[in-house]
Amino acid sequence: MREPRKEDLIEGATGPWEIVLGLEVHAQVASKAKLFSGASTEFGAEPNTQVSFVDAAMPGMLPVINWYCVEQAVRTGLGLKAQINLRSVFDRKNYFYPDLPQGYQISQFKYPVVGEGVIVIDLPGQRSVSVGIERLHLEQDAGKSLHDQDPSNSFVDLNRSGVALMEIVSRPDMRSAEEAQAYVRKLRTILRYLGTCDGNMDEGSLRADVNVSVRRIGAELGTRCEIKNVNSIRFIGQAIEYEARRQIDVLEDGGVITQETRLFDPRAGETRSMRSKEEAHDYRYFPDPDLLPLVLTQNQVDAIAASLPELPDEKKARFISAYGLSPYDATVLVAERAPADFYEAVAKGRDPKLAANWVTGDFFAALAREGFTIETSPVSAEALGQLIDLIVDGTISGRIAKQVFEKMFKDGRDPAKIVEEEGLRQVTDLSAIEASIDAVIAANPDKAAQAKDKPNLAGWFVGQVMKTTSGKANPQVVNEILLRKLGISSAG
Ligand code: MN
Repeated sequence: MREPRKEDLIEGATGPWEIVLGLEVHAQVASKAKLFSGASTEFGAEPNTQVSFVDAAMPGMLPVINWYCVEQAVRTGLGLKAQINLRSVFDRKNYFYPDLPQGYQISQFKYPVVGEGVIVIDLPGQRSVSVGIERLHLEQDAGKSLHDQDPSNSFVDLNRSGVALMEIVSRPDMRSAEEAQAYVRKLRTILRYLGTCDGNMDEGSLRADVNVSVRRIGAELGTRCEIKNVNSIRFIGQAIEYEARRQIDVLEDGGVITQETRLFDPRAGETRSMRSKEEAHDYRYFPDPDLLPLVLTQNQVDAIAASLPELPDEKKARFISAYGLSPYDATVLVAERAPADFYEAVAKGRDPKLAANWVTGDFFAALAREGFTIETSPVSAEALGQLIDLIVDGTISGRIAKQVFEKMFKDGRDPAKIVEEEGLRQVTDLSAIEASIDAVIAANPDKAAQAKDKPNLAGWFVGQVMKTTSGKANPQVVNEILLRKLGISSAG
């Protein structure tokens, strides 16, 4: 049991409360075809254009397992450091819903394909928390009811019917909205690294059911409410904050929490009761007689394990040990695969910290400001590397480099060309620098006289010289000559 953190507690009228959170995330398997049919899964098609007879539950149609989806689930399980079950079973979960033509969902109940695992979440202040994964099972998605197309009729779109989902169930190990959000972010990062789900919450590829309960510190778990299908990380935070506060108010008023399913209304910013929570036995689960148990061999699992990419936690550890990066920079860089690869291309054969400063600093800022991604960036890793080389070999100063970078970002020219064409080469010619220093001193005799007693004035002189040379003078050289000419000892 984790000791509650003071910062995570919520103050009620009668004292502090602890929030306990567990998440069930539905992640759409990245696959061109559905779990039990060959119909397309492409997003955004006209309604009912991607529906096979199996997906429409026509009588006599038989499901055929799509092994690619099974492999994707196993790959995800391995990425979550989880137990892979070589034998799992598909069950029918029976319930009626207009967008569920079968009258049941094919899911896994007693024997899921993936068992216990763990996700380490990264929190501000270099804090990390391990969240237990209880299971991952494969199941079909349902269709979609459309209520906004006609004033008096509802329609059903079965394009999603039968699409493969991985339901990833966490342990109730999270204690704040911030932790739950970090969990979803980290899970999404892992899924994207693995290529098993695109993680696109806008398109419904990733959605979370959030289980919320509150309790007094050290007390037993309280009764939970499940907030269904929250489809953005921001809404997850808002829904939790609202729901925890609601439960605390009910309990402090002497009421009880009834276990139920609730919906989050983003416009009103509140959760609302949807239905009383059904229990597993309400669904009358039984093994689907149309499907054999799913049997994997250890060799198949090993082959998938051998093909896994380096995952974010391992990459972060390597960035810290091999490149000497701060945990913060490493975390930022490994949040997606593309920036991590970009960084490594820039850092190759160069000062890794200088490369990290440029990538996480000016480069990321410019991408965000101009609305680009790594893929569409006008500045390639190679070009940014060349810019860094120009700083390191003394061709330009760090300050000029920032200007050159902005020009590169604007028109895609390479840095050496910009430096040549615009005459930005750093002045290291001693006589030229000395001449500008003499001019500045001659123009400011009073300040020059004071400088012996007020060494801080040297900084002002450096600024003036840089101004007269348009920032092209080598600042280190300027500083050395100035100190000598002003009669300030460089040790001071
Ligand atoms: Mn489910």
